[in-house]
Amino acid sequence: MDPLKYRRPIFVNPPFRDPLQAALAQRLGETGARQVDRILPLLDGTNSIADIYGRLAVEGISPAVVSGVLEVLDGLGSLSDTPHGEDEAPVLGEIARYRDQVACLGEWFRVRQGPEEASQAALAAQSALGTARVVVLGLGRSGAALLEALAVAGVGYLHGLRAGGESGIEEPTAAALASRLRTLNPRVTYAEISSVEGGDFPVGEDTASAPLLVYCPDVFQEAVCRELNAVAQATGSSLLPYRETPFSIELGPLVVPGQTACYVCYELRRRAAEPKSGPEEPPPPGSPALAFAVGIPLLALEILKILTRAAFPVTRGKLWRLGHFDGSVGVHPVLKLPRCPVCGVHRRTPPRRIWEE
Ligand SMILES: [Zn+2]
Repeated sequence: MDPLKYRRPIFVNPPFRDPLQAALAQRLGETGARQVDRILPLLDGTNSIADIYGRLAVEGISPAVVSGVLEVLDGLGSLSDTPHGEDEAPVLGEIARYRDQVACLGEWFRVRQGPEEASQAALAAQSALGTARVVVLGLGRSGAALLEALAVAGVGYLHGLRAGGESGIEEPTAAALASRLRTLNPRVTYAEISSVEGGDFPVGEDTASAPLLVYCPDVFQEAVCRELNAVAQATGSSLLPYRETPFSIELGPLVVPGQTACYVCYELRRRAAEPKSGPEEPPPPGSPALAFAVGIPLLALEILKILTRAAFPVTRGKLWRLGHFDGSVGVHPVLKLPRCPVCGVHRRTPPRRIWEE
């Protein structure tokens, strides 16, 4: 039985002995069925299910048997819960909501940590998501889907910003989007902002709490991404661009100011590699796209890795491209351009003034 199904179960509505024994025997065999007498005294509202598992395991009764007995009792309507205490309920509710995700984060951490450490790290990572801040630029097909994924994942503070550019679908209103996100996860705070500059930008108190900027418009505009790149460099926020074309999706490169190549480095390198493309590729007319955003769950996956540090993001300093037709996956490193006009370091050798020494 799920240890979180009841906080501290109580045995109620005692069933008749024979039907109970029959149900237990059918489920667990005669030996297993006999253990019910050891379990019932513990169902007095003072023990959690995890406690019951632990206490009986010491006595040599396996959790599988205990779980079977509890499930049979539950099926007969003989289990009830202690009333929720004000203090404990929210915490348990929080864990229950994200239980599978915390377990998944735990698996990620276990790649490099012991099981005990990993499960603690996973809980810490989930609570870090609860205080993280993400600004999503683009509230169309892709942006709205991304906000929904992040809300479900438990990212605590979400901000949306309209990206401009004509796409075939009508963007949801701020109120509609806020209500949809609240329905998905009432613990998440969502606010639409009108600019990433000035007082509207949700800057944290230190750079560690600077929001992650995600550019995922339905119609990708390089000029807008360059502007965001400049904002990222000025505020210390990381920037993650997402682009969908009729033939592929492209995630990244994740720009971490002061550490990775910036978006302009990427743009200049891409142009150098593909000299045929013009200085500014206009979006194709009518912005052809499927009715659903193809790569958004992968983008959400990257964001979870960035925010929790549970695993290394694929897109850090790299472009991740997935081709729709041939199924190709390419991960292309994007190196810093030494003379990048935005992030390049122009080191000047100071004039030698040996006479002062
Ligand atoms: Zn650069």
